[in-house]
Amino acid sequence: MGGAANSAHQIGLAADITAPGLTPRALAALILQSGIEFDQLIYEGTWVHVGLSSGAPRSQVLTASFSGGHASYAAGIR
Ligand SMILES: [Zn+2]
Repeated sequence: MGGAANSAHQIGLAADITAPGLTPRALAALILQSGIEFDQLIYEGTWVHVGLSSGAPRSQVLTASFSGGHASYAAGIR
């Protein structure tokens, strides 16, 4: 899934975002509640990854955690 998220960046369909006054976790929750259509929403600890898709969006919500240089992904906003 990390590879898929990276490839979305490479083709300009993803952004890693933060918002002033909101924690990244609160921002992720806000995007989720907003009903905005996305392919992947990933809470990555210090930012939020929002990926779009040229095909049918998967509406996949994940939380990433990093250890030893590797990312692992759990379902939902943790
Ligand atoms: Zn990203």
